Amino acid sequence: MPTAPPEPVEPSAGVGDSFYPLMGNGGYDVLHYDIDLDITPSANALDAVTTLTAVATGDLDTFNLDFHGLEVETVAVDGVEAEFSRDGSEMTVHLAAAISSGAQFTVAVAYSGIPQPVADPGVPFFPVGWHRTDGMVYTVSQPSGAMTWYPNNNHPTDKATFTFQITVPDSVTAAATGLLADETSADGQTTTTWHMDDPMATYLAAVYVGDFERHEQQTDSGLLIRDYIPRDSDPSILRDLAVAPNAIAFFEEILGPYPFDVYGTIVTPFPLGFALENQTLSIHDRYGIDPYIIAHEAAHQWMGNSATVDDWSQIWLHEGFAHYLGLLFVADFHGQNIESVMSGEYRDLVVTGASPPGGITVQQLFDPNAVYRRGALTLHALRTHTGDDVFFDILRTHYDQAAGGTTNTELFLGIVYDLADAEAVSLVESWLYDPEMPGIVSGPTL
Ligand SMILES: [Zn+2]
Repeated sequence: MPTAPPEPVEPSAGVGDSFYPLMGNGGYDVLHYDIDLDITPSANALDAVTTLTAVATGDLDTFNLDFHGLEVETVAVDGVEAEFSRDGSEMTVHLAAAISSGAQFTVAVAYSGIPQPVADPGVPFFPVGWHRTDGMVYTVSQPSGAMTWYPNNNHPTDKATFTFQITVPDSVTAAATGLLADETSADGQTTTTWHMDDPMATYLAAVYVGDFERHEQQTDSGLLIRDYIPRDSDPSILRDLAVAPNAIAFFEEILGPYPFDVYGTIVTPFPLGFALENQTLSIHDRYGIDPYIIAHEAAHQWMGNSATVDDWSQIWLHEGFAHYLGLLFVADFHGQNIESVMSGEYRDLVVTGASPPGGITVQQLFDPNAVYRRGALTLHALRTHTGDDVFFDILRTHYDQAAGGTTNTELFLGIVYDLADAEAVSLVESWLYDPEMPGIVSGPTL
């Protein structure tokens, strides 16, 4: 079973994440978000109502939501207006009538304004959340930015299903995570409705508005892939995006069926400098749709999105895995030997140095050497020790146990112990925790 920290029974302003103590809230479990956004892209303005359906996990007189900026107009709990107060990114709802543990309730928050991204200690190079650049409205929310555009329980330990209803002028196109279920137009405005029926962490929700064309392709197994590319793009973009179905088929062989109802990529018309694996709709810039990056974000749909860390300190389970899986795909795609690819990675890291991925600080959340590359080498060292059959059995068993929920290093090491041996556990631990990088087990030496 997926493991998770004990559910706090008292309302609280955080769930005890070791990097983000105020992210998430205690006292309730969200089942569903209904996010209704009326967006005016020219003004970057939002007029919105987000309704959460939740279950109380303790007796509640108050509870907190994570919400940053914007003007809150009203809060209604089960249709009855409630008092609220705000302090930084915490919003406290004061209930007129207490909610008993186990009771289901709805909270509807009406709000408006110009959303602002927020500084995040884990992403010092980019404020996270809602942005507008060159006429495009876009969200990149990992880890904390979801609270800049909808009120929520902002931690991966509380996944929920989602519905998005997005109203924009007819002159632009809206896209969101999930399956497009409905599209209607009236008075120069178009409203699209999107369903995410699989559990999703708050940071993986995304909304885009701009001048896009929608293109569709399919995997051999029939999965719909819908891509959004800037209108009048060079047709070479579509050739580059055609790698995605192959990458998904490759990872289905390793980890099992693709976890969601749909996949696709949105390509920004401006340089972004990174890509991000929103659930079912990764964002890439034009310079970031090479086979490795496409494969890396596709791999996250299994490792990161379906199987999600229960504490942000565990992020090597997202990025070390996605880096290794991306390298496996590219080695296969280009006919390279994975041993020589990983030997190259190792030689690079010996020169640059790499902190242990299991002992990072929040500032190292996306450290490419510590988290991505040493994380991937951790997996490759395990594979060299166990052989391919046991190694891929470990990857698949771990994914199966965490799919749709959360994971952590302890769960992974327990599976390594069960399917391999104590020596394999020690090897993985030395890669994850030793200050010095261990020696590589095989392959060309320096
Ligand atoms: Zn990644």
